[in-house]
Amino acid sequence: MSVQVVSAAAAAKVPEVELKDLSPSEAEPQLGLSTAAVSAMAPPAGGGDPEAPAPAAERPPAPGPGSGPAAALSPAAGKVPQASAMKRSDPHHQHQRHRDGGEALVSSDGTVTEAPRTVKKQIQFADQKQEFNKRPTKIGRRSLSRSISQSSTDSYSSAASYTDSSDDETSPRDKQQKNSKGNSDFCVKNIKQAEFGRREIEIAEQEMPALMALRKRAQGEKPLAGAKIVGCTHITAQTAVLMETLGALGAQCRWAACNIYSTLNEVAAALAESGFPVFAWKGESEDDFWWCIDRCVNVEGWQPNMILDDGGDLTHWIYKKYPNMFKKIKGIVEESVTGVHRLYQLSKAGKLCVPAMNVNDSVTKQKFDNLYCCRESILDGLKRTTDMMFGGKQVVVCGYGEVGKGCCAALKAMGSIVYVTEIDPICALQACMDGFRLVKLNEVIRQVDIVITCTGNKNVVTREHLDRMKNSCIVCNMGHSNTEIDVASLRTPELTWERVRSQVDHVIWPDGKRIVLLAEGRLLNLSCSTVPTFVLSITATTQALALIELYNAPEGRYKQDVYLLPKKMDEYVASLHLPTFDAHLTELTDEQAKYLGLNKNGPFKPNYYRY
Ligand code: NAD
Repeated sequence: MSVQVVSAAAAAKVPEVELKDLSPSEAEPQLGLSTAAVSAMAPPAGGGDPEAPAPAAERPPAPGPGSGPAAALSPAAGKVPQASAMKRSDPHHQHQRHRDGGEALVSSDGTVTEAPRTVKKQIQFADQKQEFNKRPTKIGRRSLSRSISQSSTDSYSSAASYTDSSDDETSPRDKQQKNSKGNSDFCVKNIKQAEFGRREIEIAEQEMPALMALRKRAQGEKPLAGAKIVGCTHITAQTAVLMETLGALGAQCRWAACNIYSTLNEVAAALAESGFPVFAWKGESEDDFWWCIDRCVNVEGWQPNMILDDGGDLTHWIYKKYPNMFKKIKGIVEESVTGVHRLYQLSKAGKLCVPAMNVNDSVTKQKFDNLYCCRESILDGLKRTTDMMFGGKQVVVCGYGEVGKGCCAALKAMGSIVYVTEIDPICALQACMDGFRLVKLNEVIRQVDIVITCTGNKNVVTREHLDRMKNSCIVCNMGHSNTEIDVASLRTPELTWERVRSQVDHVIWPDGKRIVLLAEGRLLNLSCSTVPTFVLSITATTQALALIELYNAPEGRYKQDVYLLPKKMDEYVASLHLPTFDAHLTELTDEQAKYLGLNKNGPFKPNYYRY
């Protein structure tokens, strides 16, 4: 059983996923990912199994994240998209970001002594020993260099919690809790909060139309029947909608949090109440974090056959502790930059022992998470922390990539005077053409009211810049790493720190000048605001479709490699969200399709198209 991808145009009109039974003999697996489409998308290559996706190593270097001109797409490709085995175009860049950010994680030794199947050598994880020692051991402890989403800053969670359980200091591990059906296979802060959590989930469902459509269409169809999914993501209302959708599609799920702070306790309680074994609470210690992951995988009589990870910690844990589990695991779906980078490392070393889907680099995630999410949440984060008015304020935004573009657009719309700094002449020219003044930070640092970093780089705002800022200047970061602003340089004896609000510090110079530092230089929106559910819906839908595809793929279609979702799949995810806007997509005529060399059902762009 699987999901049939209908044409984008059709889906825009009829917001429903077609689920239909397919006999095993049918050559083209649905939902996505037919081998025919893969071969059509790939440039002509001699030999090989035409039914199998080409391994990454066989692909030519691509100008963008993928390859394959539109003209090469056969009509067959239009019917069913296929995951492409393209390597990510620039893993080093991501890696650098990750390392500089000190974001990742792992265990104290970070080594895998035994790996399944072909893996014999030790696997060294790049970021071992980096940050785990800095995890808090107490609920509520602040001032950590590990960001609120250390394991993953690439996906977002609502920071809001509507029930306050902070005064209950008892560790959930020490509590005996049962849900109303007498089930105790979970560990959450307080099962009694389930009703509040259920309301949160219901609210999120309103903004997650594609998952709800999948669920609706799945009635009677169970493309994930028999799937045993172990997940490690932010546990929020949006994740709950995803989990319950996976459940509706036939999967059994066990879940832990990928971040020690981001769990919404009431949502975790609601999931536990509905029978999902969830092991997570807000404010876990490092030990709790791994204990929760272990409780998800180390279960008598239950073994996962799919992994949904966000940050790579779960995958790492299984590699390290239970390598034999990979014999039964059909695939990994990974969402974050960090986790994807690790998978590519494993693949490069020939040590990846199951197929993996890289959700992070799908177009819909990159474009929507980075651009639109930031466009919406930058103002929210600033407003909640400072109550400031934006009109007429002078703002400098460092970096004019997707995140910077989103921030600039929002601030400009509010009447701010926006300056941009860039190192890349292309992005710099874009900033100019969009009507922003391109400057060096030094030129405006004395006059601006707000400094926002969005580069993914380090030391963009130095102590020298901070010394020169005017009184009351607000400084914050929207990039992945918490080293974009040299916050460490502010921890010197002559400067006084005053915590004026949660996530707001005044740093005061001897002459009385103070700057307003938000979230100690960590991601502002992640730390101080909520993130639009609709954006998360897009990522969650992609995750669900990737799981269905990997789970249903016939033996041999996917090798032990990292696969990008095909453009067709991205288009499909987008099309499932269009009805929300009552959007009417134009269909190609036969003549037009022929003229452009496209299939009427897509994909409509080559992989290297930049949008
Ligand atoms: P990007 O690569 O598209 O943009 C970053 C830009 O910064 C590039 O154009 C680069 O040329 C520029 N840059 C690099 N060093 C610079 C410097 N010293 N001065 C000025 N400009 C410089 O990346 P993106 O998608 O915009 O993401 C930026 C960061 O935000 C990444 O770290 C990413 O992980 C993170 N991110 C944050 C959110 C969020 O919600 N806050 C969402 C997605 C991504």
